[in-house]
Amino acid sequence: MKGLCILGATGSIGANTLDVVARHPDKFRVVALTGNCRTQTLLQQCLAHRPDYAVLVEPKAAQELSRQLKAAGLATEVLVGPQALAEVAVLPEVDCVMAAIVGAAGLLPTLAAARAGKRILLANKEALVISGPIFMDSLRASNAELLPIDSEHNAIFQCLPANFRAGTKASSVRRILLTASGGPFLTTPLERLTEVTPEQAVAHPRWEMGKKISVDSATMMNKGLEVIEASLLFSLPPEQIQVVIHPQSVIHSLVDYVDGSVLAQLGNPDMRIPIAYGLAWPERIESGASALDLFEVACLDFQPPDFERFPCLKLAFEAARLGGTAPVVLNAANEVAVAAFLERRIPFTAIAELIERTLNAFPVSQVTDLDSVLAADSEARRLASELALNFG
Ligand code: NAD
Ligand code: MG
Repeated sequence: MKGLCILGATGSIGANTLDVVARHPDKFRVVALTGNCRTQTLLQQCLAHRPDYAVLVEPKAAQELSRQLKAAGLATEVLVGPQALAEVAVLPEVDCVMAAIVGAAGLLPTLAAARAGKRILLANKEALVISGPIFMDSLRASNAELLPIDSEHNAIFQCLPANFRAGTKASSVRRILLTASGGPFLTTPLERLTEVTPEQAVAHPRWEMGKKISVDSATMMNKGLEVIEASLLFSLPPEQIQVVIHPQSVIHSLVDYVDGSVLAQLGNPDMRIPIAYGLAWPERIESGASALDLFEVACLDFQPPDFERFPCLKLAFEAARLGGTAPVVLNAANEVAVAAFLERRIPFTAIAELIERTLNAFPVSQVTDLDSVLAADSEARRLASELALNFG
C-alpha cells in the first residue's frame, strides 16, 4: 500500500486523483488531503477516503470541517494554515505526494516533499517554473522521483527511454514537440479579443480544468509555462522545444530523435490517464478513461502558433531564454493579471500587456536561493497589482 498526500485535493486534479485512487483500494491509502477553503468538498472527500489528516488554509473553514467530521464520527485530524500543507507532505507514512495546488502557493509544500525524498506527482507547474534549479537540485539531493502529471510532460516522459529520470538529459533527442489545443480563441477575430468574457475564456474546448489554468490556456501562457517546465524536466534549452497547435488534443506531445524517429503518446483528453501513470509507475493500472477511438477522431490537425494572437507565449519563451528571476516575474504577473481578468477588472488582452510591463520593469537577476525567488515573486506581484489597479 502506498501512502498518499494530495495537495489541492478539492480542485480538478485532486478530484481526478481521488477518482483513480478509489478504483484501487488495494494499492493506495489516503493519508492526507488538503484544500484552501472549500469545506463541503473536503468533507465529502474525507467521508469517502477517511484520511488521517485534512488541511484547510482558511481558519474558519478548518474549524467548520473539524466540527462536521467529529459529528460524522471520523477520526481525521484537521490542521490549519499554509504551514500545515508542508507538514502533511513530509509525514513518514506518506510515500507519494500529488502536487495539485494552483499557482505559486504550492511551492513550499511541494519543495518540502521533494527535500523529504517523496515521489512527487507534479501537476503544479507554477511551483517548478518559479523555483527551477532549486527544485531540481533538491530532487537530486534527496533522490526523490518526479513524475510529470501535466499531460504533455507525461506524454514526453512516456516517449523517453524507460531509464530516463526527470532532471537528467535524455540522449539522442533532437527536440520536443509540445502540443497545444489553442484554447477557445484559436479562430476568434483578433479585434474581438478585447471583449471576450471570463465565461468564454474558461470554456475550454477539450479539457475541464480549474479557472486559472483555463484562462492560461486561452492566452497560451499555459503552454509558455509548459515550455519552461519542459526545459527543466528534460534538460533542454527552449530552442529545442517546438510548440505545435493540435486542436483535437489527442496527441499529448512527441519526442523527435536524432535518427528521424518521432515518438508520440496518444489518448483521450482525460487527466486520469497521466495521474494513473504517475501513481503506478513503472507499472500501469486502470484509470477509468475510455479507450481511444481513432475512427471517431478521424483526423489530426497541426499548425504553428501565432505570436500576435498569443503574445503571452512569446513572453514566456523570452523569460525561458533569460532564466534567473525572469520566469518568477512572468508567473507572478500572470497570476495577478488572470485574477484581475476573472474579477472583470481588466480586459483579456490586458493580461499580456500587464505581464510585459512587469517584466520590463525588472532587471533579471540570478536565482541564488529560495529567498531570492520569494522576494522576486512578491515584488513582481506588488507591481503587477499596481498596474492592474491603474489599468486603462
Ligand atoms: P483548481 O483551481 O481546480 O484546484 C486548485 C487547488 O488548489 C484546490 O484544491 C484549491 O483549494 C487549492 N488552492 C488554491 N489556492 C491555494 C492556496 N493559496 N493554498 C492552498 N491551497 C490552495 O486547479 P486545477 O485545475 O486542479 O490545477 C491544479 C494545478 O494543476 C495547476 O497548477 C494547474 O496548472 C495544473 N494542471 C491542471 C490540469 C487540469 O486538467 N486541471 C492539467 C495540467 C496541469
Ligand atoms: Mg498541460
